[in-house]
Amino acid sequence: MMFDKLKEFLNFDIKEEKYSLQDDKTFGKVASKKAPTSWVRSTCGYCGVGCGLYIGVKDGISVYTKGDPAHPVNKGTLCPKGLSEHEMVHSVNRFTRPQIRKNGQLVPTSWDDVFKKTSDKFKDIQAKHGNKAIAVVSTGQLLTEEFYTLGKFVQMGLKTNNYDGNTTLCMASAVMGYKQTFGSDGPVGAYEDFSYADTIMLIGANIADNHPILKLHIAKNKKITGKKPTIIVVDPRFSKTAKMADIYVPLKPRSDLALMNGLAYIILEQGWENEKFINERTTGYKEFRKHIMENYKPQDVANITGIEVKDLYNLARVYAKSPAAMSAWTMGVNQSSIGTDTVSAICNLALITGNLGRKGATALSITGQCNAMGTRETGFTSSIPGYRNFASSYDREEYATIANVLVEDVPTARGYSYPQIIDAIDKGEIKALWLVATNPLISFPDQKKLRRALNKLDFLVVQDAFKSETALKADAVFSAATWSEKEGTYTNSERRCNYAKKAVEPLGQTKSDFDIVLEFSSYFGLKDKLYPNWSEPLDAFNEWKKLSDGRLCDYTGMTYELIEKLGGIQWPCNSKNPTGTARLYSEDMPCNTEDGKAKLLPLDWKPMSENQSSSFPLILNTGRTVEQWHTRTKTKTISILNDLAPEAWIEINPEDAKKLEVKSGDRLDISSTRGKINDIIVRESQNVRVGNVFVPFHFNEQLINTITIGEFDPKSFEPNYKQCAVQLHSSKVPQGIKIKEEEIAGALEHVVVKDETIFANTIYKKDKLEL
Ligand code: SF4
Repeated sequence: MMFDKLKEFLNFDIKEEKYSLQDDKTFGKVASKKAPTSWVRSTCGYCGVGCGLYIGVKDGISVYTKGDPAHPVNKGTLCPKGLSEHEMVHSVNRFTRPQIRKNGQLVPTSWDDVFKKTSDKFKDIQAKHGNKAIAVVSTGQLLTEEFYTLGKFVQMGLKTNNYDGNTTLCMASAVMGYKQTFGSDGPVGAYEDFSYADTIMLIGANIADNHPILKLHIAKNKKITGKKPTIIVVDPRFSKTAKMADIYVPLKPRSDLALMNGLAYIILEQGWENEKFINERTTGYKEFRKHIMENYKPQDVANITGIEVKDLYNLARVYAKSPAAMSAWTMGVNQSSIGTDTVSAICNLALITGNLGRKGATALSITGQCNAMGTRETGFTSSIPGYRNFASSYDREEYATIANVLVEDVPTARGYSYPQIIDAIDKGEIKALWLVATNPLISFPDQKKLRRALNKLDFLVVQDAFKSETALKADAVFSAATWSEKEGTYTNSERRCNYAKKAVEPLGQTKSDFDIVLEFSSYFGLKDKLYPNWSEPLDAFNEWKKLSDGRLCDYTGMTYELIEKLGGIQWPCNSKNPTGTARLYSEDMPCNTEDGKAKLLPLDWKPMSENQSSSFPLILNTGRTVEQWHTRTKTKTISILNDLAPEAWIEINPEDAKKLEVKSGDRLDISSTRGKINDIIVRESQNVRVGNVFVPFHFNEQLINTITIGEFDPKSFEPNYKQCAVQLHSSKVPQGIKIKEEEIAGALEHVVVKDETIFANTIYKKDKLEL
């Protein structure tokens, strides 16, 4: 012992034992300290990239995670979260038993007790206030089988359509944008498009931090096409992803829709559109063209976006002249009160240039959570499973027949969305809330209003594997199993259905979400009615397969065995496409619209509802960092991740730092009309423009959603997380940054140049383009 200590003190201790390796039949060498005795092939449970991996198991515990070399998504690689995922399973932050609140304290209890008390409370509330007085908000983290089982119980059993997912906070705008353009939800492209595109335009997508494995597919491009693709990054923040761009477009916050329309103007003006594609595959061209040519002249767009006219022309040329151009986006686009229309504006651009349904030619939304797609397909929130429409009697009857339920029980309309549920709680209309694997006390915007609403609930039940901030406030906790402890499927961003195999038994007395819903339904006498003879996730999968028959998200050709063998299968997968379909809407695949054509939609940019003012002169942008996951329920106890990003920080431009007399490492406070957060560490950075700041949203200690705005897209109900007006307060300049009135006026009003002839007829004239 003494000798060991001396070795350490003298720096002779090379920790040989700790870092020693040993042979492993599957992976060659592995760390001896945690060498598993078996490997289970599965799928990562964090993000929507959907990486294949192996879980190493020793003595019934997950001890290792390794990338699956044969998986088409990640080819053996994993990001830091995937590599340490096994540590999350036995985190101290897990619930091991169900809990019930007694005398103000959450105490462990039996499953029978928690189910009995919760079901009694639900029945009582529904008897007094009606079925819809109960609302449910789920997640993008369950398995598809669990989403289907839960949705069926909420809609057919509890008979409340006040049901939504936290996916509304991240992906709803993509869903609605796809619906209004193509007639159905469903990401149209594939990751392999990154490897075939001549031009890749990433819009509001910091894939280097949030979806790092996608860079692999871009890296393969040169090998496949023989030349490096042109990478365009459109982002107000010079993110890690922007650093790999050939063309970086530092547009002003919230001007992306105007940019898309402006590029469409130039493409149409210059005759760079794909006339054949427009005629054969789209509708609405005449109105679209008129709208664009009247309203989105380059100088106007330059004023809105802050991008010079010559750069707009260059951008339009690069995109339109590419034989195959791909656009891809994520939260920078979706999390906006004009997110839905921005998604469709991106699709408009792809449509007028014929970039759809071909290798490398697409418009792909990148999803956030590991199974946001699964809940979109089967979850029963904004549509009936299989992208069926609540308003269609045909769709309701078809669902009822296949699922063997009464058609009268199938809702005829969508209920409240997530933000509407919070409003209805605030108004006293909803009395009980059941949250599944979501943590609004960190993730929901405008926390003051949210907390006021939640305090009015008669009963809050949280179903979660982790002791989230929200779960700790609950009246009852259904302690759930998590990734690796249960079985089923996840669908990733490219519609690839992956098999997530169970590797270990659920921790303590936790249960899979599938088992929780099945058992809870029996306390309402509904188990045999809704789930006759069901005992395992495969039962839900088989019913879902039948429901998907003939739908866009057709699973009929899939089995667990085939999914595992192929490393996931992209739907639709049926007898016509037995190994799946790489991309939607190729030449022989009509859209889900009446005439089978995609819609070109005239859409308008709108300014931010809360712009800079003399009191709040900066614009706050929020986002993520690669080391943390969402509200840190899973990552804060994994030291290799948490030590790298243990607290929030604020990125501010050096010019603004100078005004506040702070430098990197100092601390300051940040406020908006909704509240104030103290003590955030400063990172001076040229990555943010003057007058803009960035703060990651993961952290309870510096809860940025205290000050974000409760504004939502009216079509998707997605929050406008990316822009609100704030002030900074340093110890030396506590009153914050002062901006002169005329500077604010300049930021508010863009100058419209009506006379466009200089650009249309001279320098930028068609065929004489000089850039
Ligand atoms: Fe998991 Fe996403 Fe990381 Fe892949 S990129 S390992 S799916 S968190």
